[in-house]
Amino acid sequence: MSYKAEYIWIDGTQPTAKLRSKTKVLPDGVEPPVWGFDGSSTNQAHGASSDCVLKPVFVCPDPIRGGDNVLVLNEVLLPDMTPHPSNTRVLLTPVAERFAGQEPIFGIEQEYTFFAGARPLGFPEGGFPAPQGGYYCGVGADEIFGREIVEKHLDNCLAAGLSISGINAEVMPGQWEFQVGPLSPLEVSDQLWVARWLLYRTAEEFGVSATLDPKPVRGDWNGAGAHTNFSTKAMREGYEPIITACEALGEKAQEHVRGYGDDIESRLTGLHETAPWSEYSYGVSDRGASVRIPWQVEVDKKGYIEDRRPNANCDPYVVTRLIVDTCCAALEK
Ligand code: ADP
Ligand code: MN
Ligand code: MN
Ligand code: MN
Ligand code: MN
Repeated sequence: MSYKAEYIWIDGTQPTAKLRSKTKVLPDGVEPPVWGFDGSSTNQAHGASSDCVLKPVFVCPDPIRGGDNVLVLNEVLLPDMTPHPSNTRVLLTPVAERFAGQEPIFGIEQEYTFFAGARPLGFPEGGFPAPQGGYYCGVGADEIFGREIVEKHLDNCLAAGLSISGINAEVMPGQWEFQVGPLSPLEVSDQLWVARWLLYRTAEEFGVSATLDPKPVRGDWNGAGAHTNFSTKAMREGYEPIITACEALGEKAQEHVRGYGDDIESRLTGLHETAPWSEYSYGVSDRGASVRIPWQVEVDKKGYIEDRRPNANCDPYVVTRLIVDTCCAALEK
């Protein structure tokens, strides 16, 4: 007998990579092996020498096909088995290992927007819905668009064994959020990529697309982010390390913003619950700051911080690497 392995990988599309997948039928009892694909069709190779290699890094049950079928997330390698230039996971691995002793963990809030054709789900044909105000965590058919898809996606993620910690409707109609974590840097990133694939795949069944576009509608509509919550063991035990991490992020603010997703300037304007991309700030309870110290963390004098800057379209391998590198190096001193 056989089972199906859906091989998922991150392609070379610029400026924002896309997910791709294809199916391998495997005999029962055989683990998903290294495989290959045509990199000339994914912006990862030229036609003359187009082979790229898929190396499995994370395997979980496939909730779409069910049974013994699996999803297989991969790293992309060159034919000589060295990392492909588009492979950002390979850059996170040594940083995560170097600072593993500090026990860094992340919870990422993935915002996204459903589209039906060219318009966000819930936007009337040729016009705009009522202004923002009632949609966030709303209820009722006048405020909520796509809940059946969101519920199915949550069930699929849980059936896959992913650590989803919650979901909510967002500020713009058709806009939603799910949270992954808290988990280690590699775990949260692998699981977020698989959860994104499941989002597209689940919505496909409903004839709806999902986008991570950071500013899907111009004008007075909220953008889509990926607030990144972060702590180390020391931060979970005391307040001074929380401040040290906030200050360290300020020292490298522009390097971080550059790695937090394409077109970040159109989202981090200083309006719509954001801080301007060009200025760094942190504060307690402050949703207009770059980095927020949650109210409860200030009360408890321990916990975690929320970096509010990453875009919905960010690469979590890059975001978690930058944060671990910056904060853990400062905390080591
Ligand atoms: P918000 O109030 O900003 O909407 P959410 O509830 O959407 O926050 O997301 C908070 C995220 O922070 C969750 O994914 C949660 O698992 C994560 N989190 C909680 N505690 C920690 C911690 N100590 N370190 C890192 N992440 C954490
Ligand atoms: Mn072919
Ligand atoms: Mn949230
Ligand atoms: Mn949100
Ligand atoms: Mn948040």
